[in-house]
Amino acid sequence: MNRYDYIIVGSGIAGLYTALLAKEYGSVLIMTKGSIDDCNTKYAQGGIAAAIGKNDSPELHFQDTIAAGAGLCNEETVRILVEEAPDRIADLVKFGVPFDTLEGQIALTMEAAHSVPRILHAGGDATGEHIEITLSNRVRSSKIKVLEDCLATEILIERGRVKGVKTLDCHTGSTEEIECRFLILATGGGGQLFKFNTNSAIATGDGIALAFNAASEIADMEFFQFHPTALRLPGVTPFLISEAVRGEGGILRNVNGERFMQSYTPDGDLAPRDIVARSILYEMKKTGADKVYIDVRHLPHHLITTRFPHIYRFCLDHSLDITQDLIPVAPAAHYMMGGVKVNIWGETNIAGLFAAGETACTGVHGANRLASNSLLEVLVFSKRILEKTSKEKRTRAPLLKQSTEVHYNLSQRKAVRAMPKPSLSTLQQLMWDKVGIIRNKEGLSEAADILATWQNSLPEPTDRPSHELSNLVLTGRLVTEAALLREESRGGHFRSDFPESSPQWQRHIIFTAK
Ligand SMILES: Cc1cc2nc3c(=O)[nH]c(=O)nc-3n(C[C@H](O)[C@H](O)[C@H](O)COP(=O)(O)OP(=O)(O)OC[C@H]3O[C@@H](n4cnc5c(N)ncnc54)[C@H](O)[C@@H]3O)c2cc1C
Repeated sequence: MNRYDYIIVGSGIAGLYTALLAKEYGSVLIMTKGSIDDCNTKYAQGGIAAAIGKNDSPELHFQDTIAAGAGLCNEETVRILVEEAPDRIADLVKFGVPFDTLEGQIALTMEAAHSVPRILHAGGDATGEHIEITLSNRVRSSKIKVLEDCLATEILIERGRVKGVKTLDCHTGSTEEIECRFLILATGGGGQLFKFNTNSAIATGDGIALAFNAASEIADMEFFQFHPTALRLPGVTPFLISEAVRGEGGILRNVNGERFMQSYTPDGDLAPRDIVARSILYEMKKTGADKVYIDVRHLPHHLITTRFPHIYRFCLDHSLDITQDLIPVAPAAHYMMGGVKVNIWGETNIAGLFAAGETACTGVHGANRLASNSLLEVLVFSKRILEKTSKEKRTRAPLLKQSTEVHYNLSQRKAVRAMPKPSLSTLQQLMWDKVGIIRNKEGLSEAADILATWQNSLPEPTDRPSHELSNLVLTGRLVTEAALLREESRGGHFRSDFPESSPQWQRHIIFTAK
């Protein structure tokens, strides 16, 4: 059996960046279930937040992040996030990420719910692609071993500590056990839970399922961010129309051409994502349409094509010239705020097991992520994993404060007899209809029963699609059960039967396997 100091599962920004740091401290293996560049990271458009501008400060960034998190951010981790941000940006610059500049300085743009321009970007709206290409080229030219088409299927534990990981070769179907001192889950999010989503096909909640099955704590799963504006064209997978488009002056209009955001909130087009997403849904219902529009026709042609070359080109490829045409959009699932619960060193409740990136829950996002904080979170907390593992003596920091947690196991549910067969599309439809942007007890209970029945009836997974479906069903159960428990509305979680926030629920829902 092979043995490494570090095994990293995933090759998005979290996996690649952590691997590049880890190689200074020992042997490293990256395994990834597709090719190295298959990930959500490469689709990130808007950019990465950091308080490096003249009129900005970590304190302002702290306040904006806390405000977006709707009372559930972990203040200690947010403080770390905003204070360590400038150094981590400097690391990316050193690795060669070509951030856009203006008059010799890194250019900063505005995004919703940030009080000042603080978003760094690369290639206009191709930030994620530049980060992914730069880091994957670095990994390729280093001595780091990369196993592509290699699916992690089980975390191996021995005497309460991580021993390694079981894998499946997606081509040959052969399985293997590989040992390590430290296992780092960098498996990304779970956007594929929902029919309409902006995520890559890899986002199937694998890290959540792997960690839950190994008895890790899973936190805040009810908080899923729905992006208000994904392209809605028949037959075209939802493609993100970045918030930065509204940041630069884009205007939301209903199908009758009327502006509407001001009638829902004084923040108008730049209100937080959950408010804009729900307002769009209400407006779609009111007008009987399946979309609204973003209007950028009043912006200079040159600004659109240089600041949003990716979006401009993608739309043009679908016969839409956004300098002249309205952009049809609707909300889509985008980002998983919850995840594998980690402390300020990225450490889970299992010795030797760490989580980084979208699969982790550091507590910085609380109930709602501030735009462009997720790429930053990856950098800050991945670096801390290395600080921790390279000095093993450091004592374990506590996870989130106990007084703010409520712990649960997944409850038994009655089996449902008449229901659709489990498949990716039936699961995505169920989650979109019953566990989507606007939830209620009836829909959530129905979904919870169906998901539990599916979980008990799925055959043992044998290949990548069947493992992914099984992981999605379990992840979907965690989202649904948490959403059912939280009888209030807060951040990304909205219950039409409990539309207000309740002080009683200023706490985190944590699930652990029995
Ligand atoms: C369209 C879009 C735009 C976005 N824009 C922004 C933005 O502007 N700013 C921002 O901060 N954030 C943005 N985000 C969010 C951000 O991109 C992600 O949160 C971040 O890239 C996640 O990085 P990651 O490394 O954790 O996961 P990913 O980049 O998704 O990588 C996960 C990796 O894990 C691998 N993997 C998964 N399961 C397994 C398994 N079982 N075995 C082996 N390998 C596995 C995958 O193949 C993949 O390589 C955006 C997201 C999307 C979808």
